[in-house]
Amino acid sequence: MLLELDNVAGRYGRNAVLHGVSAAVGAGELVALVGSNGAGKTTLLRVISGVGPASTGRIRFAGHDIARLAPDRRVRLGIAQVPEGRQVFAPQSVDDNLRLGGFTRPRRALGPELERIYALLPALAARRRQLAGTLSGGEQQMLAIGRALMAAPKLLLLDEPSLGLAPLVVAAVFRLIADLKRAGTTILLVEQNAQAALAIADRGYVIETGRLVLEDTGTALLANPRVREAYLGV
Ligand code: ATP
Repeated sequence: MLLELDNVAGRYGRNAVLHGVSAAVGAGELVALVGSNGAGKTTLLRVISGVGPASTGRIRFAGHDIARLAPDRRVRLGIAQVPEGRQVFAPQSVDDNLRLGGFTRPRRALGPELERIYALLPALAARRRQLAGTLSGGEQQMLAIGRALMAAPKLLLLDEPSLGLAPLVVAAVFRLIADLKRAGTTILLVEQNAQAALAIADRGYVIETGRLVLEDTGTALLANPRVREAYLGV
């Protein structure tokens, strides 16, 4: 497995948010993490990328124990996170946002990498010099994904990429995620839109109040009565 979590717990101060989380993501897999507001999805992604909160338990990535490593070391090993709410650098250009995403790469790699990202995300290519804060929500989401891809990640952590976007744009974001998977990127996807996430996922986990309560293939979870009632509104 590319990523393995063993008995991971996380807390904000005295508030325990994750309990005994054991999970794995294999190379090339697209795994969806589904759960309601406040269940701990974002926290789990943040514990994997190392941006906090403090956690206990074992996290192995590509053969390394990473639980105690600083976030930038984890980026260098191949973990890149696309945060909830995009968090693009609003006063910087599209080009500069992408270059910042490549902070771990040698300078000479950045030019070719930028062209690869623009080929993948043509809507951004036409807006290279535009300030990121002036882009539409959908364009900012594409930019946030492009910025993470600049790190050439082995594992992409996507937090609520469809949040607040119009239906057509949501469809484009999910197409991009499916394309990235086809191209071999390993993805851990957190989504409120459980239907769309499970439809493209190889496997999924359901998290409730900080505990993983179900694990199955995307197809099986879509058909699971408990999932349908709690997360698919069926
Ligand atoms: P959402 O979809 O609303 O983002 P989530 O499943 O991602 O939900 P988390 O954001 O991981 O949930 O939050 C899990 C719990 O941790 C919640 O009870 C939340 O209030 C708490 N929490 C989140 N961030 C902090 C923080 N910085 N300080 C203290 N508590 C926090």
